[in-house]
Amino acid sequence: MSRNTIAKTRILEIIQGSSIALTHAAIQEQTRDVCDRVTIYRILDRLVNENEIHRIVNVNGVVNFAACKRCSHSSHHHDHIHFSCIKCGELTCFEDQSIDLNLPSKYIIQEYQLTVAGICGKCS
Ligand SMILES: [Zn+2]
Ligand SMILES: [Zn+2]
Ligand SMILES: [Zn+2]
Repeated sequence: MSRNTIAKTRILEIIQGSSIALTHAAIQEQTRDVCDRVTIYRILDRLVNENEIHRIVNVNGVVNFAACKRCSHSSHHHDHIHFSCIKCGELTCFEDQSIDLNLPSKYIIQEYQLTVAGICGKCS
């Protein structure tokens, strides 16, 4: 296995094994020994393109990554909610929670960036 493959497998395992969405910095923290910053960016991009993970912009503007649970290899389908805790800063993916929007006809949704801020289960 090449270094890149090892790094990619490791990064995917970290994201899939996490109950919260992870920032680039948090991923870097756990992969220090196998890859550098730039490699992590490249691998994260590739995993997003392969529909293995998705990007979430947190309320503070920081990009986070979470595993895709319901996406197929041909399409990302995301209409779920992300919960951002104002106390601990953790971002949780709720794949089973969605909001039904009542948009005027001819408005076609392609992507949701839905982040709700509040206090998480651990902090409440
Ligand atoms: Zn996805
Ligand atoms: Zn919290
Ligand atoms: Zn998500």
